Amino acid sequence: MEMGDRPQCSDECREALRRLGALLDGELGEVTQTKLERHLADCEPCTDRRDFEEGFRELVRRGCTDQAPPHLRARILSQLDETVTG
Ligand SMILES: [Zn+2]
Repeated sequence: MEMGDRPQCSDECREALRRLGALLDGELGEVTQTKLERHLADCEPCTDRRDFEEGFRELVRRGCTDQAPPHLRARILSQLDETVTG
Protein backbone atom coordinates (compact mmCIF):
# COMPACT_ATOMS: atom_id res chain seq x y z
CA MET A 1 0.00 0.00 0.00
CA GLU A 2 1.47 3.29 -1.05
CA MET A 3 -1.56 5.49 -0.65
CA GLY A 4 -0.80 6.45 2.96
CA ASP A 5 -2.49 5.13 6.06
CA ARG A 6 -6.09 5.87 5.15
CA PRO A 7 -8.15 2.71 5.04
CA GLN A 8 -9.75 2.00 1.69
CA CYS A 9 -13.08 0.40 2.35
CA SER A 10 -13.96 -0.68 -1.16
CA ASP A 11 -13.57 -0.21 -4.89
CA GLU A 12 -16.62 2.01 -4.70
CA CYS A 13 -14.78 4.33 -2.33
CA ARG A 14 -11.72 4.47 -4.54
CA GLU A 15 -13.97 5.32 -7.45
CA ALA A 16 -15.79 7.97 -5.42
CA LEU A 17 -12.56 9.58 -4.25
CA ARG A 18 -11.17 9.62 -7.75
CA ARG A 19 -14.24 11.52 -8.92
CA LEU A 20 -14.38 13.99 -6.04
CA GLY A 21 -12.58 16.69 -7.98
CA ALA A 22 -14.90 16.40 -10.94
CA LEU A 23 -17.89 16.43 -8.59
CA LEU A 24 -16.73 19.63 -6.92
CA ASP A 25 -16.02 21.15 -10.30
CA GLY A 26 -19.51 20.20 -11.47
CA GLU A 27 -18.01 18.19 -14.31
CA LEU A 28 -19.83 14.93 -13.72
CA GLY A 29 -22.85 13.86 -15.70
CA GLU A 30 -26.13 13.80 -13.88
CA VAL A 31 -26.24 10.02 -13.53
CA THR A 32 -22.70 9.73 -12.25
CA GLN A 33 -23.19 12.63 -9.87
CA THR A 34 -26.35 11.11 -8.42
CA LYS A 35 -24.61 7.78 -7.95
CA LEU A 36 -21.67 9.44 -6.28
CA GLU A 37 -23.85 11.52 -3.99
CA ARG A 38 -25.73 8.39 -2.99
CA HIS A 39 -22.45 6.76 -2.05
CA LEU A 40 -21.39 9.81 -0.05
CA ALA A 41 -24.67 9.72 1.86
CA ASP A 42 -23.86 6.16 2.92
CA CYS A 43 -20.17 6.49 3.48
CA GLU A 44 -18.80 8.63 6.27
CA PRO A 45 -15.10 8.49 5.29
CA CYS A 46 -15.92 9.63 1.76
CA THR A 47 -18.21 12.40 3.04
CA ASP A 48 -15.48 13.55 5.38
CA ARG A 49 -13.05 13.57 2.51
CA ARG A 50 -15.49 15.51 0.33
CA ASP A 51 -15.97 18.12 3.05
CA PHE A 52 -12.24 18.44 3.46
CA GLU A 53 -11.66 18.74 -0.26
CA GLU A 54 -14.37 21.38 -0.48
CA GLY A 55 -12.88 23.41 2.37
CA PHE A 56 -9.44 23.02 0.88
CA ARG A 57 -10.56 24.38 -2.48
CA GLU A 58 -12.32 27.28 -0.82
CA LEU A 59 -9.16 28.22 1.06
CA VAL A 60 -6.98 27.96 -2.01
CA ARG A 61 -9.44 30.04 -3.98
CA ARG A 62 -9.28 32.75 -1.35
CA GLY A 63 -5.52 32.38 -1.09
CA CYS A 64 -5.62 32.37 2.68
CA THR A 65 -4.25 29.03 3.79
CA ASP A 66 -2.24 30.94 6.40
CA GLN A 67 -5.46 31.89 8.12
CA ALA A 68 -6.82 28.36 8.28
CA PRO A 69 -7.17 26.80 11.72
CA PRO A 70 -3.94 24.98 12.65
CA HIS A 71 -5.40 21.49 12.43
CA LEU A 72 -6.90 22.17 9.03
CA ARG A 73 -3.74 23.84 7.83
CA ALA A 74 -1.73 20.80 8.88
CA ARG A 75 -4.04 18.58 6.89
CA ILE A 76 -3.81 20.87 3.88
CA LEU A 77 -0.04 20.93 4.00
CA SER A 78 0.21 17.17 4.29
CA GLN A 79 -2.27 16.89 1.45
CA LEU A 80 -0.13 19.16 -0.73
CA ASP A 81 2.88 17.09 0.22
CA GLU A 82 1.08 13.94 -0.79
CA THR A 83 0.11 15.51 -4.10
CA VAL A 84 3.65 16.61 -4.86
CA THR A 85 5.38 13.39 -3.88
CA GLY A 86 2.64 11.08 -5.12
ZN1 LIG B 1 -16.85 5.54 0.44
